[in-house]
Amino acid sequence: MPYEHILVAVDLTEECDPVIKRAREIATAQGAKLSMVHIVEPMAMAFGGDVPMDLSQLQQQQFDQAKERLDRLINKYPELTKEYCHLTYGQPRQEIHSLAKEHECDLIVVGSHGRHGLALLLGSTANDVLHGAPCDVLAVRLMKKGE
Ligand code: AMP
Repeated sequence: MPYEHILVAVDLTEECDPVIKRAREIATAQGAKLSMVHIVEPMAMAFGGDVPMDLSQLQQQQFDQAKERLDRLINKYPELTKEYCHLTYGQPRQEIHSLAKEHECDLIVVGSHGRHGLALLLGSTANDVLHGAPCDVLAVRLMKKGE
């Protein structure tokens, strides 16, 4: 059964190119629709929810910056249309899962660093997304320089 709707999750770093390219290849080969998502994590969440200052302005800047980067990607990859590109606040795993369910995606594509040692204990978004995913998940191996 070919995939019908692929959701590619991007962290908006330069590493998202190989992830988008892989998702695009599969979408083109299987005639699937391609959606993209980036999740902006609330700053209070990153600081453990206990910050004695107003982060709303910083948070807005972070969101605007993410929007700019996402728009640049949309311009770079003509297969991606604004209509199918999402920018939301929240926790990546939760938001990626609920978006995949809402839009009936049958494949989620994420990048994976193939961590080991201490970094493995800290976990990764790819691992996180895999657990309890509502559909198939493809982890695209991201190479470090020199690998
Ligand atoms: P990481 O575990 O943070 O190195 O991220 C691995 C992969 O998870 C990235 O290549 C993206 O596919 C995905 N990812 C990480 N952070 C986000 C985010 N904030 N929004 C969407 N996808 C993300």
